[in-house]
Amino acid sequence: MSATFEVINPASGRPVASAPDNGPAEARQAAARAVAGFGHWRRTTAYERSAVLRAWASALLAREVEIARLMAQEMGKPVTEARGEVRYAVSFVEWYAEEAKRVYGETVPSQAAHKRILVQSQPVGPVYAITPWNFPAAMITRKAAPALAAGCSIVLKPAEQSPLTAMHLAELWVASGGPPDVFQVLPTSNPGAVSEVFFDDPAIRKLSFTGSTEVGVRLAAQAAKTMKRVSLELGGHAPFLVFADADIESAVREVLASKFRNAGQTCVCANRIYVHDAVHDAFVERFAAAVAALRVGDPLDEATQIGPLVDAQGLDKVRAHVDDALERGATAVVGGSAGEGLVFCPTVLTGVAPGMRILEEETFGPVAPIIRFEADEEAVRQANDTPYGLAAYLWTRDLSRAFRVAEALDYGIVGVNDGLPSAAQAPFGGVKMSGVGREGGKWGIEEYLNLKFISMAL
Ligand code: NAP
Repeated sequence: MSATFEVINPASGRPVASAPDNGPAEARQAAARAVAGFGHWRRTTAYERSAVLRAWASALLAREVEIARLMAQEMGKPVTEARGEVRYAVSFVEWYAEEAKRVYGETVPSQAAHKRILVQSQPVGPVYAITPWNFPAAMITRKAAPALAAGCSIVLKPAEQSPLTAMHLAELWVASGGPPDVFQVLPTSNPGAVSEVFFDDPAIRKLSFTGSTEVGVRLAAQAAKTMKRVSLELGGHAPFLVFADADIESAVREVLASKFRNAGQTCVCANRIYVHDAVHDAFVERFAAAVAALRVGDPLDEATQIGPLVDAQGLDKVRAHVDDALERGATAVVGGSAGEGLVFCPTVLTGVAPGMRILEEETFGPVAPIIRFEADEEAVRQANDTPYGLAAYLWTRDLSRAFRVAEALDYGIVGVNDGLPSAAQAPFGGVKMSGVGREGGKWGIEEYLNLKFISMAL
């Protein structure tokens, strides 16, 4: 195959490298290889799979800086933050290297004296996975590590903006002793045609998708044609509730971290910041000062905290959300406009109110909209007033309020005085239009296992 497509650095606008542009013919070959790979990988012991996963984790960690620089160049994540992502990505490989050994079966009492009921877990089969550009390494290992640990083979289609990190991960898999037909990466500029091949193939038994809700809904319908198991990690619209008794210093620090990492381009980024009337002004003053101090610059510079947005479409959406809010009466306390190239200046908006686009759609940019509230119940009602249900955050020193509000929030993940709750051993995922299934922990591997009930009469 000779076709390629260019990967563009969003900071410079210049090509970084080119990636193979796979089409339906290559997709059919990859699917056939994945079926063959599953045939032998499923017969390896959990201990053999664990050893390869551990070697892969070490290889990834040894190249932390190299992978981080690749990410910074292909999608604009500041390199210091990208190194954190590599460690986060590796934490899934390490976790599932161990979890492979803990896929237990069960025996269940029977009502008949001569019968025995056994329950076993078996790998679902070859997996097709699709990932977005905003976490070019971690979104891959969060799927590949549990799939491989369970004994599945996997073909992964990375985002067009970030195929280089994905290809590097696959090279390191092979260098670590991983069979090439068990983990394949298939970059393409034609995701629809390539994916169609996998959706139509009954031998591919699972779809795991991370990306927007709009695309996820379409792909789930396509996967239903061959009744595949489906896991969907979709969009979010995270509320962040700061109550009157909150520790303001820590709330400011954590909203900053939650909202502005990856220039606001994460699915769990605080997207609506509800602040109680009693602490609103103090919060805004400190928060605005912290946001104004964020260092915008070249993603390859170690000091940079905010890089460019991934592409012009992303920048246009952020600009449209801010302009809409300003036209409807919000105030930009900091920022409010685009900077050079694909940069949007870190922005704090106050006076944000229901009806503004920014409170309804994912902004995916460095913009923090602040909404004032007076009653807890009203804040919770507004926080839940969205089709999304991925992550929510609340800040309080009152234990009763912490439990009451955490339990009332319709979200898959709730951070209580914690702006960065994600961990390899915990279940990450959403409810409502934010998806189905979980990634991480013992729940993450279950997504790649089918239960088999064996009834044995003696
Ligand atoms: P996207 O447009 O949905 O794209 C995600 C992936 O789907 C990309 O690989 C894309 O390929 C592919 N794709 C698009 N159309 C397709 C089609 N017709 N058939 C097959 N594949 C198709 O999302 P994005 O803008 O890249 O990513 C941002 C979104 O991901 C946000 O909504 C964010 O919240 C969500 N996200 C969710 C989580 C989570 O864990 N819940 C984590 C990270 C991100 P191309 O690149 O070639 O278009």
